Amino acid sequence: MSDTLQKFMFDSSLVRGELVDISEAWRQVQLLRAHPPAVGAMLGEMMAAAALLSANLKFNGTIIMQIHGDGPVKLMVVECDASLNLRATAKLAEGAQVGDASTLQQLVNLHGQGRFAITLDPADKLPGQQPYQGMVALDGDSVATVIENYMMRSEQLDTKLWLAADLQTARGLLLQKLPDEGGKAVESADADAWNRAVMLASTLSNEEMLSTDVMTLLNRLYWEETIRVFEPRRPVFRCSCSREKVGNMLKMLGKEEIDDALADLGKLEINCDFCGRHYGFDKVDCMQLFATHTLSEAVQPPGSQQH
Ligand SMILES: [Zn+2]
Repeated sequence: MSDTLQKFMFDSSLVRGELVDISEAWRQVQLLRAHPPAVGAMLGEMMAAAALLSANLKFNGTIIMQIHGDGPVKLMVVECDASLNLRATAKLAEGAQVGDASTLQQLVNLHGQGRFAITLDPADKLPGQQPYQGMVALDGDSVATVIENYMMRSEQLDTKLWLAADLQTARGLLLQKLPDEGGKAVESADADAWNRAVMLASTLSNEEMLSTDVMTLLNRLYWEETIRVFEPRRPVFRCSCSREKVGNMLKMLGKEEIDDALADLGKLEINCDFCGRHYGFDKVDCMQLFATHTLSEAVQPPGSQQH
């Protein structure tokens, strides 16, 4: 059962969890670009983390994880929306050599200048509303540690993550301790369940996570607990790029820059970094981009541009 996200809950306590497998979607991401194993493992772990966080939030929108690295990896972006549509890309520095055993610090924070941002972009933003962006400290040697620290600061809930990925599959486990109602322990709550759940999960090896399907893992870890499982969901690879979005990006570069590029190249060829789809904009297409812009400005009533 590949590509599944399984939520579960300990029946007698305030512990909830999620297990995710991303295999087919991960292969599709890699059709466009092959990654050195260490880079692939990190990108796969970020995909698993994005799916787990996305399913964990009561939020209709997209989670965007973006690392600007200062080492061999220049850029890593993973996006996951509320329906678990995923896309991801990694860009290496030109001629970068990546050892198979490279750590997160060596990949993206070699000189301590790496930057990691997590953005929550609501699906139905009000006009002018900005997405919420949080900077994530790159203080740890694994994607799981870095995101756990971020979750601790942003949600103030105990959250534990276990992530594992190779070039075939990406897996993740999230456990979260829910707050007591009104600060009082619920009568039936099993106070030790959190420690037990975390301790058992910590016995998982990377190999075991990668080679065992999600339901088998869940049963193997928590066979002694009463677990409630929810309807499984399916993460899929889907790119949200469109001709309109590429056009908007070109408009943001400004007419002057576009005219210069057209003079040099005759036609603008843009390939989506996530899915490889090709978008061509010739002189007429570009003229139309800016013509629309001018028209919409022209129809605005006088004085409306002053604020
Ligand atoms: Zn695309």
